[in-house]
Amino acid sequence: MNCTACHAALDAPAQLCTGCLRGLDTRLAELPAQYLLLAEHLRPGAARGDGPMALVREAPLPVREDVLDMRAEGGLVTTLESWREAMQDARGWGRPARAGTVERRVMAAARGLQMNLDWIASEFEAAGDMAREIRALAGQAAALLDPAPPTLRLGDCAADLGAGDICGAPLRVPAGTAEVRCRRCGADYPPHTWLTLATGAWATPEGAAA
Ligand SMILES: [Zn+2]
Ligand SMILES: [Zn+2]
Repeated sequence: MNCTACHAALDAPAQLCTGCLRGLDTRLAELPAQYLLLAEHLRPGAARGDGPMALVREAPLPVREDVLDMRAEGGLVTTLESWREAMQDARGWGRPARAGTVERRVMAAARGLQMNLDWIASEFEAAGDMAREIRALAGQAAALLDPAPPTLRLGDCAADLGAGDICGAPLRVPAGTAEVRCRRCGADYPPHTWLTLATGAWATPEGAAA
């Protein structure tokens, strides 16, 4: 039997390997905070606190559509709530309530999933899809929170964080340098590895960087 998320071989029957389970746990714990932090990134440059206040108040404010989409209905909250609902449905439970502010709903959905992780990892047939989708979601949120200026996008960090949990953070080549380091886990990527990264050849657990 194999992990339904990364396809690694499993010792005992389950849906997720320990690496994918731990990664999912961490991401569910981090997503509510990422959601809150995104509010600071709604306006271009807002997180840097620049611009005179009077000007900021009177000018029509540009809004980052990508951040807005992630924070709105249909974004981060909907992905989490849909998975919580699918999980509860699979267990024969009723639909979870969707009440309160979006912040509260994000927290409730992430917590509802976290509290059922043991069952998800052992029994939930869609666990692999869920783990992959939550990883992509957390990666997107991290990329939106990244204050770095737009630079060449290389691919996703292939570092193994232990027990098969692949980092997956977006990697970029900063302007004017040939040094690429993962901002999440610190893995280094010398130029001769860039082509492999860019073509996604490391996107399998077997080919992950050491
Ligand atoms: Zn796995
Ligand atoms: Zn990394």
